[in-house]
Amino acid sequence: MDQDPVCGMKLRPGQEAASITYQDHTYHFCSSDCKREFERHPKQYITAGAASSR
Ligand SMILES: [Zn+2]
Repeated sequence: MDQDPVCGMKLRPGQEAASITYQDHTYHFCSSDCKREFERHPKQYITAGAASSR
């Protein structure tokens, strides 16, 4: 299951309202607002613990 790295919401397939590919990784968001927030501070949200390395 994907997780919105900005607000932490769990996203079911098809539920994501926006997505972006950043550094070869695709991130999904519950809204375009969260996507825009991610674009502003991508590193902040990637290092926040949402990385799906496992
Ligand atoms: Zn969100």
